Amino acid sequence: MVVMKSVLIHVCCAHCAAYTAGYWREPGYDVSAFWYNPNIHPYAEHRHRLAAMKSLAQEIDLPLMVAGGYDLTEYFHRVVGHEAERCRYCFQLRLSRTAETARRNGFNAFTTTLLISPHQKHELVREVGDEVAQEKGVAFLYADLRKRYSESRHMTKGLNLYRQQYCGCLYSERERYAEE
Ligand code: SF4
Repeated sequence: MVVMKSVLIHVCCAHCAAYTAGYWREPGYDVSAFWYNPNIHPYAEHRHRLAAMKSLAQEIDLPLMVAGGYDLTEYFHRVVGHEAERCRYCFQLRLSRTAETARRNGFNAFTTTLLISPHQKHELVREVGDEVAQEKGVAFLYADLRKRYSESRHMTKGLNLYRQQYCGCLYSERERYAEE
């Protein structure tokens, strides 16, 4: 009897999820997606990105679990006063919740679409993923998918999905537009 391995992918947006889901399906993983991104501000922006993710999930037949609520307070509780290190706290928050959900629902492993983005602190994502895996007792699947970033965005081009202009938090929004 062949037992299928399963992985829960933390998804931050549809455009990074498109290639990532296929990448883990290829070696035979039963892939599901998990949305938990209280770092996306303001709330209307969060809703736009989630709607895009739901459309993609339907399009590629990807089971999508959406965390209830919007833990805005929890995000700021962790980050305020530690802004220089905010991405570490942000990754910890999101990946911990993903690993807990993976364990509770019987997945063999978890991973994240953050690993495909050249705009993220890649080594930090990997470090936090490994720490969370140890802490929660669920394997973290690592792959450097950054070279596939453009391909992933190309895959969603025809779907007419909302495309974000900044990473997520209010700090990143200010940085994005202050640069102009
Ligand atoms: S810049 Fe992005 S990864 Fe860093 S704290 Fe803000 S939303 Fe999170």
